[in-house]
Amino acid sequence: MFRLILILVLLLVIYWAARSLWRDLKASSYHKKKPASSSAPPQVTDKLVKDPVCGVYCAKRSAYTAIWKGKVYYFCSEECRQKFLAEKESASSAG
Ligand SMILES: [Zn+2]
Repeated sequence: MFRLILILVLLLVIYWAARSLWRDLKASSYHKKKPASSSAPPQVTDKLVKDPVCGVYCAKRSAYTAIWKGKVYYFCSEECRQKFLAEKESASSAG
């Protein structure tokens, strides 16, 4: 008998806790105030990189890349990239 009362009290406590939690959730959603996110937005200013072939600055995200001797190079177009690689290759084969 005593155990039954204990279980009932426990259930009541759980119910009360759940209800107050639910109320807290509802209250927080009621105030539709978005907290200032600490993380930066995904659309940050694109970093500009210089094309070593034609000297044009282009967005890093959309730039063509080539890796030469462990270094990354950025180009405005595939054409510039090919030109750069051909130049480097001919230079390295010559000397
Ligand atoms: Zn270019």
